[in-house]
Amino acid sequence: MTDDAERATVAAAVRRAIRDVPDFPKPGIVFKDITPVLVDATLFVRATDAMAAPYRGSGITHVVAIESRGFILGAPVAQSLGAAFVPVRKPGKLPSRTVREDYALEYGSDALEMHVDALANARGVLIVDDVLATGGTSAATCRLVERAGGRVAACAFLLELTALGGRAALAGYAVDALLQY
Ligand code: AMP
Repeated sequence: MTDDAERATVAAAVRRAIRDVPDFPKPGIVFKDITPVLVDATLFVRATDAMAAPYRGSGITHVVAIESRGFILGAPVAQSLGAAFVPVRKPGKLPSRTVREDYALEYGSDALEMHVDALANARGVLIVDDVLATGGTSAATCRLVERAGGRVAACAFLLELTALGGRAALAGYAVDALLQY
């Protein structure tokens, strides 16, 4: 199968697997539950391979992934690309010196931190998360990467909620999602 055909097949299988959970974690939010993808061993590998495929041979040295579902997808993407893995975490979780960015969420506001020296030898950085919604989380992560001296090559998501305008929040960055809703 060509990469494009495999990507389309995997995207269709992931779409069938993802579970919509209405009114979680708050009334009015339709939560995209990715756990049915993870619990299917074959689909889990195919989904993360499909996320990594566009970046093969593109000089990605580091995958930066966002707590917590971003870790689940970002670690296999990093290994698939032969890249290093860098966690971006909620405040107070990382033990060494950090940079911090505040950001707005679809449901609330929060802050993210990354070790200040995590990208010391980075060239191309791929940011990975499960869902692109308003883009606030990943835009804050782009700022963290740049403050730590990294260059954002692209942001890769399993799925994108297009009505929430995340691509506009990430204007100027390459954005890629396996699925759009
Ligand atoms: P945002 O900053 O608005 O792009 O939100 C992205 C973050 O919030 C991601 O880390 C997602 O895991 C989570 N998120 C936002 N909306 C949803 C949703 N409808 N279903 C599942 N996760 C979501």
